[in-house]
Amino acid sequence: MTANGGPVEVAVVGGGLVGAALAYGLARRGRSILLLDEGDVALRASRGNFGLVWVQGKGRGLPAYALWSQRSARLWAELAAQLREDTAIDVGHSQRGGALIAMSEEELAGFGEMLAEISEAVGPENYEHELLDHDGLAKLIPGLGPDVPGGSFTPYDGHVNPLRLLRALHAGFQTAGGDYRPRARLAHIEAVEGGFELRSQAGTFEAGKLVIAAGLATPDLARQVAVEAPIHPVHGQLLITERAAPRLAIPTNIVRQTDEGGFQIGYSNDELGYVTGTRLGVLRDIAHNAVRALPYLAGLRILRTWGALRIMTPDGFPIYARSTEHPGAFVFACHSGVTLAAVHAMICPGWIDGDGIPEEQACFSPERFDVQTTA
Ligand SMILES: Cc1cc2nc3c(=O)[nH]c(=O)nc-3n(C[C@H](O)[C@H](O)[C@H](O)COP(=O)(O)OP(=O)(O)OC[C@H]3O[C@@H](n4cnc5c(N)ncnc54)[C@H](O)[C@@H]3O)c2cc1C
Repeated sequence: MTANGGPVEVAVVGGGLVGAALAYGLARRGRSILLLDEGDVALRASRGNFGLVWVQGKGRGLPAYALWSQRSARLWAELAAQLREDTAIDVGHSQRGGALIAMSEEELAGFGEMLAEISEAVGPENYEHELLDHDGLAKLIPGLGPDVPGGSFTPYDGHVNPLRLLRALHAGFQTAGGDYRPRARLAHIEAVEGGFELRSQAGTFEAGKLVIAAGLATPDLARQVAVEAPIHPVHGQLLITERAAPRLAIPTNIVRQTDEGGFQIGYSNDELGYVTGTRLGVLRDIAHNAVRALPYLAGLRILRTWGALRIMTPDGFPIYARSTEHPGAFVFACHSGVTLAAVHAMICPGWIDGDGIPEEQACFSPERFDVQTTA
């Protein structure tokens, strides 16, 4: 029984961007939904990310992921409008394309190969992109550093304010009738007749279906419903400057200007285990690189720096699973929770509410890792 006196239709575990998007979409479908969330005391990538809605370069080696990212990017404007209507929160969504800035000729050649390969795999008609020399890129990014050789552009990319996105998903969930429980760390899952019994810090609950989307805590919970979800943390560091007049119209892989005016500069990729916080040497390199890309940044003060942990699968692609042993249980984990928020809120709730994960997305099953291990 829930604290409200009866089992809910679906319990979602984890109130980060992934769990909150799924819970919001499910609640909008009129289901009774409980969202159990440990809250900010847990590791929470959703409060430390770069805010990109990004397609460029995604899906190398798995064309279905390129198409899935693109599908989400195409739905993003609708999600932003829906959230505004449901919650009056503007998530700062802007999608006018984005650029990868190459800092060397080798990197530029690498971008070219990567985009050509993805375009070939998904069909050029599905993957509009341009490789640009210095002058071409400088037309898109005025003030570009003189020693930047060039970069690439796709029209699908954009960015949002990720903190406002998280707030809007939570507000939308509650407006749609969802029951949010913070400080409710789930410890034990028991399969019972008709669903699951969930023993959490905030009490014991019952749910017909269960969705586990608890970021880095997912593997231990998923194992309790017989799903292996191999994920590991990858540390990233970011910086943000004081606010400035609008100058950078499109987001890039190195820097984006937020809707509030600050330049968010990112980011590193380090396998350090469960270490958070920042390292001065890494921050210095990130800042130096950003100033090479856009020399005018040198005149701005850095207001804040932070580190956060990515939720990474062995191949970098999402894990979407339905337990074979307990078909009412689903597991969701991914590295691009901002980009994929639109499909998570608007497409995946139909899977949970309906017939499960469609064949088209079966490639995101964690069973792919078993195949790799035995190969
Ligand atoms: C440096 C960095 C840059 C990034 N940049 C981008 C980007 O530009 N674009 C993009 O698309 N993505 C980006 N990401 C990735 C994105 O932030 C994540 O994919 C997304 O936030 C993952 O959300 P999540 O809900 O899975 O996990 P989290 O945000 O980690 O949330 C997990 C939630 O589960 C809860 N929880 C944990 N254990 C339990 C439990 N036992 N019971 C109940 N609740 C529990 C926690 O309290 C938390 O609320 C970036 C990430 C990092 C770190």
